[in-house]
Formats: sequence, structure tokens, C-alpha cells
Amino acid sequence: MYDYLFVGSGLFGAVFAHEMKAQGKSCLVLERRSHAGGNVYCEEKEGINVHRYGAHIFHTSYKDVWDYVNRFVEFNNYVNSPVANFRGELYNLPFNMNTFTKLWLEVHTPAEVAAKIEAERREAGIGEPRNLEEQAISLIGRTVYEKLIKGYTEKQWGRACTELPAFIIKRLPVRYTFDNNYFNDRYQGIPVGGYNKLIDALLEGIEVRLDTDYLNDRESFDKLAKKIVYTGPIDEYFGYSLGRLEYRGLRFETERLEQENFQGVAVMNFTAREVPYTRIIEHKHFEFGTQPVTYITREYLADWQPGEEAYYPVNNDENQSLYQQYAALAAKEQKVIFGGRLAEYKYYDMDDVIKSVLERVEKEWG
Ligand code: FAD
Ligand code: UDP
Repeated sequence: MYDYLFVGSGLFGAVFAHEMKAQGKSCLVLERRSHAGGNVYCEEKEGINVHRYGAHIFHTSYKDVWDYVNRFVEFNNYVNSPVANFRGELYNLPFNMNTFTKLWLEVHTPAEVAAKIEAERREAGIGEPRNLEEQAISLIGRTVYEKLIKGYTEKQWGRACTELPAFIIKRLPVRYTFDNNYFNDRYQGIPVGGYNKLIDALLEGIEVRLDTDYLNDRESFDKLAKKIVYTGPIDEYFGYSLGRLEYRGLRFETERLEQENFQGVAVMNFTAREVPYTRIIEHKHFEFGTQPVTYITREYLADWQPGEEAYYPVNNDENQSLYQQYAALAAKEQKVIFGGRLAEYKYYDMDDVIKSVLERVEKEWG
């Protein structure tokens, strides 16, 4: 009999299992994919770590989380500075003085930029923003909105910007300095040698059964452990008895190129509506690779069908209220702890996942 059975070997399961093992508990991890690590997993190709489930950049302002991950693996000094490509015109992101001075060659100072944005805002005649389009124009003017936001956002969310909530755009920094760092967080980097190193270190000495779906043989697995930590989709755990939660899907097309450097940056966003993908990732640049070849991945948003990999939870009232009903059922399961982005139906960043595990672990022992 194990003390803990973990369903899923993503960051939530791996950190939790590590902490329980450190407390002397016996742990078994089940993973239905053929590898551990969940969505942070990378495939090594010719010395390049290819982020199989989308680009992952570790960034956090939690010092305890940063110290925690650094115990297992060293992090490099990568700073995410994506470039936006609008019909061949290249602009720095997030929106900052580099972006503005390239868009408007006549402006040179923060005061001139502010005046330009204010003029565009006034011309648009927007009061209290009622949707994403109005929010974006009033924050940053029509030129930036039309070149860098409109097409990208409509591809990302599959809806017109006039039908999307304003808050989506608020998480992007707008800066009146020449600073291309995409994040405002205190700490940032990529594990030296890739994310698998972090996962392997967390799971060291813990039994992991790959290609094993807990839900296929739940009764026998339940008998194996005193407590279960479930990190899969919450609606699937309950057999979709109240209905299905929706997700936004992604499709990745990876290509090997016989050249050293394809685009000169890890992340390039394609902001025009007619380009079918949202971004191209050139993986080697996350680790300053110098290999003679390169791997790139085109990322497409896709309609999601039940049974496919679930990427982004859909943030609307219907899905949130359905999730709340499932969460009420979950609260009644005495032996099971539900956690992570699928079981909590939440768009968690990696540091949030680790923070939430460390808090729960304390509760387990509290
Ligand atoms: P997951 O990684 O999804 O792990 C859950 C695991 O459970 C999976 O391996 C799954 O196979 C397994 N599982 C499910 N059901 C069962 C079952 N029945 N039996 C056995 N196993 C099961 N975060 C950042 O901080 N920075 C980023 O740049 C970033 N970029 C992202 C880009 C994309 C495209 C996506 C989708 C996410 C990104 N994230 C990023 C978020 C990050 O991926 C998550 O925070 C983190 O991976 C969540 O870990 P998790 O353990 O909760 O879930
Ligand atoms: N966004 C945009 N243009 C860009 C990048 C982002 O308009 O080049 C918008 C888009 O609406 C996106 C939001 O900003 O959904 C948040 O971007 P972020 O990169 O944080 O999204 P993520 O993919 O990390 O959720």
C-alpha cells in the first residue's frame, strides 16, 4: 500500500510527489502519456530542446518558488523578448519605446509617444471601454491596435475583438522605456539542459508508470494508496456527468531546417489576420544554441474536440459555473486532492502551480 498515488506527472504531480517522498512517504505516479513532465516536456533533437507542447519560459516574482526550482536545476539568463511580424514589418514587444519609435518615425521621447497615443485615443472617441477593441485603442492607440493586436487576438481567441472582454489585453505591459523584456517579474530563465532535467530531478527515486491511464482501471488503482492526488481534467474524473468543460486547442508543426539561425529570436508573433499561425518558435534561442541546424515550430490555434489535448481553459461564465459544480463534487471526495491546471480548470503559469503545491503540502502537514 502506497501513502500517495499521483495521477499525472506534470509540475503539479512531480513537485507534490517530491515533497511527500521527502517526508518519508511512499509514492506512485501514474502518467498516461509516454513521458513524464506534462506540458513542460521537451524532446531533444540534435542537441536542441524542442518544447513539444508550446514554448515555456519560467518567470516569477515569488522568491520561494525561484529558490525552490534552483535547488534542482540551474537556470540560464534568457529574457523573453518576442518580435512581432506584421506583413514583414518587425516590431519589438511588449509595447515599449522601441516599438513606438519604429511605428512612428517622427516621435522620439516618452512625452511625444504619450501625446501621439492620446491624439489617436481622442480621435477614436472612446469613453469607458466596453470590449477588448476599445480597451486596446484607449490604452495604446489605433495604430498599435490595428498592426499588433487585432489580428493576433482574433486568431488566438477565435472571435472579434469587439466581442472579447477587455481584461485579456491588460496583462501585456505597456512601457515608456526602451525595455523589450516581455515580463515584469523579478526572476526569469530556462533550465540549463531543458525542463526534463527539472522533472527528472523532482521525480528521482519515485516509481513512475508511463502509458498508464488511472481512469482505465480506477478501482484497482484506488486500492493501491491511502491518498490520491489527481491532476487530470476534473470533468473527466466525474465521467462528464454534469457536461463537458471547453478548451481552446493548439496544433504544432515542427520543422528541421539546414541553417544555423532562422529568425534570430526564440518567439516571433505573426500579428496579421491572414497568416494562419500565431507564432513561430525557434527553440535553440531559448538556450543560446550554436548548432549548425535549427528546429522551428509553427503554432496554430485549433478548435478543440473532446479527447484531444486540452490547452487553454475557456474563460466564460458558462464554463466557470460548470467548473464550480464539479469543484463542489470534488470537495466531497475525502481521499482525493485535486490540483493543477486541468483539475482546477485554471490558466496557471508554472510558478503558480509550484506555489499552490507548496501551500498545499504545508496544509497536509499543518
Ligand atoms: P500538466 O502539465 O497538464 O500535467 C498533467 C498531467 O496529467 C499530464 O501529463 C497528463 O497526461 C496527466 N494525466 C491526465 N489525466 C490522467 C490520467 N487519467 N491518468 C494518468 N495521467 C493523467 N507557464 C509558464 O509559466 N510560462 C510559459 O511560458 C508557459 N507557456 C505555456 C504555453 C502553452 C502552449 C501552454 C498550454 C501552457 C503554458 N504554460 C506556461 C503553463 C504550464 O504549462 C502549466 O502551468 C503547467 O505545465 C501545469 O502543470 P500541471 O501539472 O498542472 O498540468
Ligand atoms: N497579444 C496581442 N499581440 C501580440 C501578443 C499578445 O494582441 O503580439 C494579446 C492577445 O490578445 C493575447 C494577450 O495579448 O491573448 C495576452 O498575451 P500573452 O502573450 O500574455 O498570451 P499567452 O499566450 O501567454 O496566454
